[in-house]
Amino acid sequence: MRTTDTITIIRCLSDNYAYLMHDATSGDTVLIDAPEAAPIQAALEARGWTLTHLLLTHHHADHIDGVAALKAAYPDLHVVGAAADAHRLPALDRQVSPGDTVDTGAGRFAVLDAPGHTVGHIAYHQPQAQALFSGDSLMVHGCGRLFEGSAQQMFDTIATFAALPDDTRVYSGHDYAQANLTFAARFAPDAQALEQRQAMLPKLADQGTPTVGVTLAEEKLINPYLRTHLPQVAQAAGLPDATAEAVFAEIRRQKDNA
Ligand SMILES: [Zn+2]
Repeated sequence: MRTTDTITIIRCLSDNYAYLMHDATSGDTVLIDAPEAAPIQAALEARGWTLTHLLLTHHHADHIDGVAALKAAYPDLHVVGAAADAHRLPALDRQVSPGDTVDTGAGRFAVLDAPGHTVGHIAYHQPQAQALFSGDSLMVHGCGRLFEGSAQQMFDTIATFAALPDDTRVYSGHDYAQANLTFAARFAPDAQALEQRQAMLPKLADQGTPTVGVTLAEEKLINPYLRTHLPQVAQAAGLPDATAEAVFAEIRRQKDNA
């Protein structure tokens, strides 16, 4: 567990992350995803916070299994999720669609369309905190598997994120940074940025410090899925002169077989 200036990062299950944002003035506390209730409740109780809002990114069990217990513990909890996936999410107090905003005491969260990992997947951008809660779409140094959506959908999702301000920090649903970095090294990342992360990740692991919270600017130097328009990345993927979309699909395919 780690508290940055505004975001509390909670490890759940084996490699999931949940996130809390709290506002002392309003007393609002916002949770992004609920992999399991116990560590989240422990974090809330340790700080004396009452959970008021829960924003869900997608319907997979390791993102929603904590919802029922949290709703029982905090009866006024306001649960928000994608309208498109309402049939397979826990009961929602509000169904949102891309383009909507969720206003809380802890800031305004813009709902972004983020299909690819699942078709109903959404992400939340909180501009005041310069935070993108990307769920299982954009990951640190990688991107999520394509369980339901197409490579084109994930390409468009990543392109949406790439257009956010460069100082936006990425808070993803899992910690796969080390495996993703090893894979990313194949695709001509910026040498200096790669070296820095290769040196840093083992230290973070030793300290038990989360790897998330990398800026989009840093990701654009390393993450192959944000670099598929670059000739050296197309070359490394074995598809020189191919479109960025085709290079993206090929890199994702290679990762599935890695
Ligand atoms: Zn998932």
